[in-house]
Amino acid sequence: MLPLTDRQIRSSFLNCSRKDAARLPLPPGLDTLDWDRLDYLGWRDPQSPRRGYAVVPTEDGPKGIVVQTAARAGTGKQALCAWCQDVRLPHPVVLWVARRAGAAGRAGSTVGTLICEDFQCSANVRKRPPMPYKGFDMDAHVEGLIEGLRERSRGFLASVDR
Ligand SMILES: [Zn+2]
Repeated sequence: MLPLTDRQIRSSFLNCSRKDAARLPLPPGLDTLDWDRLDYLGWRDPQSPRRGYAVVPTEDGPKGIVVQTAARAGTGKQALCAWCQDVRLPHPVVLWVARRAGAAGRAGSTVGTLICEDFQCSANVRKRPPMPYKGFDMDAHVEGLIEGLRERSRGFLASVDR
């Protein structure tokens, strides 16, 4: 994804007030992120670990959401992340819930999805599996995984922004 400034990040949020967006903690190490290897930006709130943030590039620019997870999501390692769909996950996947944007969200409407607990999807899709057979097109395989992650994360953002 293209690098984002703190200002772009804060102004991207769909489902929180401007005041909350102005106060939320920025991702750690923002200045040193390897943006080429990220399909979206996701991080947890160090002050409230049940809260997370995700900023996803879309055709209309970056869009951010505030998400919450249950104290014990309990979905464990068996669950598949809906965004990266990595079957070799070394970490749990949790249910993240987003308040919808606008009037729907103010009326209490939410939408949830299973995502990697610390938003590791971009790293997951870039891990190269062992060659399944000679001549396997690993680059095309990884490209396909990256494209899938981008599509599904954008799709979720669209469901929040409705
Ligand atoms: Zn994931």
